[in-house]
Order: sequence, then C-alpha cells, then structure tokens
Amino acid sequence: MSPSKTSPAGNQTGEPIEMAIDILGRLVAFESVTSVSNREAIAYIADHFDRLGASVRRLPSRGADKENLWVTFGEAAAEGVVLSGHIDVVPVTGQDWTRPPFTLTREAGRLYGRGTTDMKGFIACVMAAASRIDPTTLSRPIHVAITFDEEVGCIGARELVDFMEDETFRPGVIVVGEPTGMAVVDRHKGSVGFTTEVVGRSSHSSQVHLGFNAIELAAELVGFLVKLGIDQKLGAPDPHFPYPFPSINVGTIHGGQVRNIVAPTCAFDWEIRPVLPSQLTAIRHAFDVHVEDRIASLRRDGGFVPTIETRCIYDTPPLVADPQSEAAGLALKLLERNATMAVSYGTEAGIYQEAGHAVAVCGPGDIQQAHTPDEWIAIDQLEDCMIFLRRLIEYCARG
Ligand SMILES: [Zn+2]
Repeated sequence: MSPSKTSPAGNQTGEPIEMAIDILGRLVAFESVTSVSNREAIAYIADHFDRLGASVRRLPSRGADKENLWVTFGEAAAEGVVLSGHIDVVPVTGQDWTRPPFTLTREAGRLYGRGTTDMKGFIACVMAAASRIDPTTLSRPIHVAITFDEEVGCIGARELVDFMEDETFRPGVIVVGEPTGMAVVDRHKGSVGFTTEVVGRSSHSSQVHLGFNAIELAAELVGFLVKLGIDQKLGAPDPHFPYPFPSINVGTIHGGQVRNIVAPTCAFDWEIRPVLPSQLTAIRHAFDVHVEDRIASLRRDGGFVPTIETRCIYDTPPLVADPQSEAAGLALKLLERNATMAVSYGTEAGIYQEAGHAVAVCGPGDIQQAHTPDEWIAIDQLEDCMIFLRRLIEYCARG
C-alpha cells in the first residue's frame, strides 16, 4: 500500500476517528521537542477547545518559554474528570527515520510520525471526542490538561499540580493518556535521577600525598550504591514488575584529566527506580548518611576534606495501586475490563498521586513504539480510545 499524507488543513466534520486523525496530523506537524517553545501548539489546541465552548486557560510556565493548558467543559465544580497528556516529544536527531517525522503518514492501518504514540494520539482523540460534549448536560465537569516538558522530568505536571492546588475546586479523577494499549494501569515505578559531584585536589601523580583523588572517592560511593542496590533484593518483591525490587543504576561517570595527575573532580549520574515512595526515601537517606559519615571521618583525619554534592535532576514518583481510588475503577468500568496492569516506565501520574489525586494511566498505542524512529500508532488503538472517551463523556453527563 502506498503511503498517503493527511491534509494539513484538516477535515474536522467527518467521522470522529477521521477527525482525530486529521487533528493528529496537525499536532505532529508542530515540532514540539522539549528544546523549543510549545506556545504555537498550545495556541492551536486552546483555539480548538475555545471554539467548542470550553473555558480555556493558558498557563505560562514559571521558568520556561512553555505553557500548560487547562480546559474545562461544564461548571468549574469539584469532582471533575481530568484527561491529561503532554505535548512535548523526544527529538529525532540521530534516529534513522524512513518517513518524515513531523508529517503524519497513513499506511496500512498505521499512522507514522513523532509523538503519534507518545502521546499526541491521545490528545488528538480527546480533541475530537470533545466536539461531542454538550457542556449544559454535564453533571461532572470534564477538564483537559496539556502539559509541557514531560520528557525531561515532568516539569509541566509539577506546575499543574500547584495550579490545581490554588483552584477552589478539586478534580475527582485524573486519567493520564500515556500509551497502555488502552489497558488500565494503576501502578508503575518511580524514576528519580541524581548527579553526584566529588571535588578533590589535583597534584602530580609522583606526589599523591599532596592531592586528593576524586575518582577514588567517587568509585567508593559508586560501590556503596551497588551494594545498596543488591540489598534491595532482601525486601518483599512486587511480582507486578519484571524486576520486582527497587533498582539503582549508575549510568555515567566522568572524572580526571590525564594518567599522571591526581584527579581533582569526578561526577556520576545515577538513578533510583522505587516501587514505593518509602523505598526512595530510605535509599536516599542511606546514601546521604554514608556521605556525611565519610566526610566526617576525613575531617577527623585532619587532611584535605573533599566536597561531595548530590543534585536531583528529575523526580518522577512511583504510582502506587490504590483500591480506594475512583480513577482505576471508573476506567475499568468504562472499558469493560476487570483487571489493572503495571508498567515499568514512569509517567506524570505519580506526581498527581503524590499531590493526593486519584489517577490512572490509560491511553492508545504501545509503549514499544515511543521514542523510536518511525514511531507509529495503530488506527484501531485510536478507535478504542474514542469509544472510551465517548463513554466517559456519557458518564459525566449522567453523573
Ligand atoms: Zn509520554
């Protein structure tokens, strides 16, 4: 079958699925990689919802040239349902694409383009499904939240949490439409990244007693983290995850200058993937105590005292299954499914749960396609998502 491109102008009057595909074509054409502003894409989405009669609020970021978007259908009352997605996509540089990444290509039941799966497909479905909302019939409001910079640490979601905190109403349910194949996900691990920098003192390697080797101390700290990671296997496994324990990974290490100079600096990037928030706290605490003890003992020795500084680079908390939460129960009911699932990737859902919201992850597409060259989504996944959204809108109208 020969590839065909969707009309860039979009035909938004046909069947809901065709409308979703047209909108997806528009969304893919915005090169909303995290290094550039998302304002044009947000303006397009805001205009779409505005024309459907929703109340639309563009929320400029505190720190970046980016915006979150908050849309409300119906009265801004409590217990609303939030459909949440991020508009940023990962870059395509260095990837071997055989189709244009920022033009939607329709081919054999698939739609190719950056972000089709992660996660403009979901946003397009929400935009198309919203054309069927009659705000006057809603007994629960429906909100749409579009966030920025998910791919670089869920920065937009953190600002959105503060925004929701400041509002007088509190949503009842948040559905994050990351790709789950339309399964209902109520748990995933967290993902918290750090950089630790050790600063010692350089000297010629013939006079090691005058310097302090930062690489040696960093290696010792890495060894401590490795042991801490192994110790996690003494805890109770969570069989929902392929690796059923919290994990620690040291991903990079850089230090020193040349072979015959005592290394003055060394830094390493590492990450914790906790199953539960308490495990994150415990691992972080154990590392901090170890560092403090190490510095204290060097100070007692009376020689040079290095500095060890650890910065948190990103912090995506885990999503913990909560049988009391309305979110997973509602999604299961509307999808006529009877079991939730776990995934091993992180999402913004952990941030919303940490802030006290009931949240589930459920969206079209397969995570295997996310971030890949020739990223694609199956059209039938979008169709399943449209059915889910239609039922959700009906549910909010009934109350
Ligand atoms: Zn995503």
